[in-house]
Amino acid sequence: MQVPLASPDIVSEDKKAVMEVLETNILSLGSKLNEFETNFAQYTGARYGIGVNSGTSGLHLIVKSLGLHTGDEVITTPFSFIASSNALLYEGVKPVFVDIDPLTLNLDPGLVAERITEKTRGILGVHVFGHPYDIDAINSLAKTYQLHVIEDACEAIGAKYKGRMVGTNSAASVFAFYPNKQMTTGEGGMIITNQETINDLSKSLRNQGRNLSNEWLVHERLGYNYRLDEMSCALGISQLRRIDKFLEMRSRVAKKYTALLKDIPGVEVPYVSPDVEMSWFVYVIKFEHGIDRNEVMQKLSAKGIGSRPYFSPIHLQPLYADGFGYKKGDFPITEDIAARTLAIPFFNTITDEQIEYVVNAIKSLV
Ligand SMILES: *Cc1c(COP(=O)(O)O)cnc(C)c1O
Repeated sequence: MQVPLASPDIVSEDKKAVMEVLETNILSLGSKLNEFETNFAQYTGARYGIGVNSGTSGLHLIVKSLGLHTGDEVITTPFSFIASSNALLYEGVKPVFVDIDPLTLNLDPGLVAERITEKTRGILGVHVFGHPYDIDAINSLAKTYQLHVIEDACEAIGAKYKGRMVGTNSAASVFAFYPNKQMTTGEGGMIITNQETINDLSKSLRNQGRNLSNEWLVHERLGYNYRLDEMSCALGISQLRRIDKFLEMRSRVAKKYTALLKDIPGVEVPYVSPDVEMSWFVYVIKFEHGIDRNEVMQKLSAKGIGSRPYFSPIHLQPLYADGFGYKKGDFPITEDIAARTLAIPFFNTITDEQIEYVVNAIKSLV
């Protein structure tokens, strides 16, 4: 049996929506962009949505719109996809890492204060694997020290913290729609914010620095081409219509995995804080010390089962280790957990037979 690690959920109405765009002449900067932004802002409860061509470009535009620049420091987590930290480097901002909470795998708010200096301008939090970070604690630190908060919600569409939807608890946040995310546009991302200045600046910056009346040859500032095309927007609109169903299906898969895996010795299932409602992005198990995670991964692969270590610590990537002098031992919790985690096949349409096949394979290998 073949069980991929991830798979998008594309149905005939998605295909029809994309085909309809292709039958018009307008493949970029048309009405679908506006419609996707409006629907997405409404879903998350934000005032503004800004569609961009990836989650990474969305993060970059937030950093830039907040006026962060060389010499500034922003506190963030080393246990994330590399884009959350790279977005700071694009503007010469120094990422200052703090270690994570071993249960939620999110940035530990208790470790933030000791890393704040006179150069600290913000905190970039990541809702890792769709589990919200401790929003109240982070926002209270930000208030005390007068820092911007940037919310990387790329893995957490629809997740809730104490009943509040993620994304609007910060200056601005970003969501991502790569094919392995909860919903997809192929490539794509969405910034949301309640601040008019961030909205206006982001919309100008994604479109070559043009002003908002879109005079084609007037460029007010150094911008980029971070636009999201109309086919992607049409797919996004169609996928967003089914997001509640998607999150429900993923939650069902996670529950089934947890029920079948929780009593297997040597395997630890994901922790979910009572304060949150997960938006399941991936299903990541932890092996006990002494189990060779990479060997399990290879043997799963031989059985046709996709799996991947999630994540590899950012501070140990050559770019960061060589560039900033980070080394092994700097963030021991992150390093210990990153060596033992494994994402296993997880997608909306995974069948019960596939889930059981994966679980039995893991059981036989540990
Ligand atoms: C997916 C993701 C992003 C953005 O990824 P893109 O591929 O650029 O859309 C950013 N941060 C995190 C934590 C992610 O998981």
